[in-house]
Amino acid sequence: MACASFRFYAELNDFLPSHRKEMKIAHIFTERASIKDMIESLGIPHPEVDGIEVNGISVDFSYIVQDGDIIDVYPISTTDRGTSTISVRPKPLTIIRFVLDIHLGKLVTSLRLLGFDTLYQNDYEDKELAHISSTQNRILLTRDRGLLMRSVVKYGYYVRNTDPPKQIVEVMQRFDLYKRISPFQRCLRCNGLLESVTKELIVNQLPETVKLYNHEFHRCQNCNKIYWKGSHYERLQQFLDLVVGNK
Ligand SMILES: [Zn+2]
Repeated sequence: MACASFRFYAELNDFLPSHRKEMKIAHIFTERASIKDMIESLGIPHPEVDGIEVNGISVDFSYIVQDGDIIDVYPISTTDRGTSTISVRPKPLTIIRFVLDIHLGKLVTSLRLLGFDTLYQNDYEDKELAHISSTQNRILLTRDRGLLMRSVVKYGYYVRNTDPPKQIVEVMQRFDLYKRISPFQRCLRCNGLLESVTKELIVNQLPETVKLYNHEFHRCQNCNKIYWKGSHYERLQQFLDLVVGNK
């Protein structure tokens, strides 16, 4: 029987039960295991981890844990760790795109509204979500830890909040998305890009009141849904102000 001591920093504690938060955890093990597997067996999904030190030396996920090891595990945000800790995450993405699990439907709409390329289908299986995230380099947003622990997932994040308005602010802050906002560019229904379209071209598809009072229209290039600055536009603008105001 062997024992290693783990200490998880900052928001990695969100994954630990209350009696184990913010303290050294003595972890007893009998089988040879990588540090990645051992961290996940303690409840922390690997995409949340940014740096690992064993006895003060930086290691990657493949390190095999030894008896007596003292292990510090750091998330992305923390300033606690030494500057020499090497990141175990894949290189940062230049284009931020998302794929979301079935429980985050409202967050999908918010992200698309702000212009972010966001895939979502309410019939995606876990395996499919992990595969899409992996092959398309999309950040997998989920509230399912098991899904994030799938080994193919490189870019992923566990959304802490359950309240949709808080979720969008959390994701904006976590991925520093404020400078990338480009609102009203994407179809809320299908994620397609919008293009401006003249009224004459689509006038037959419009309700009478819309025909009368609106002159500026956009159409989804993918599903042809028509958008105009109707009564909901003001509400969307308020939402945008709220999100940006939470910076
Ligand atoms: Zn569409």
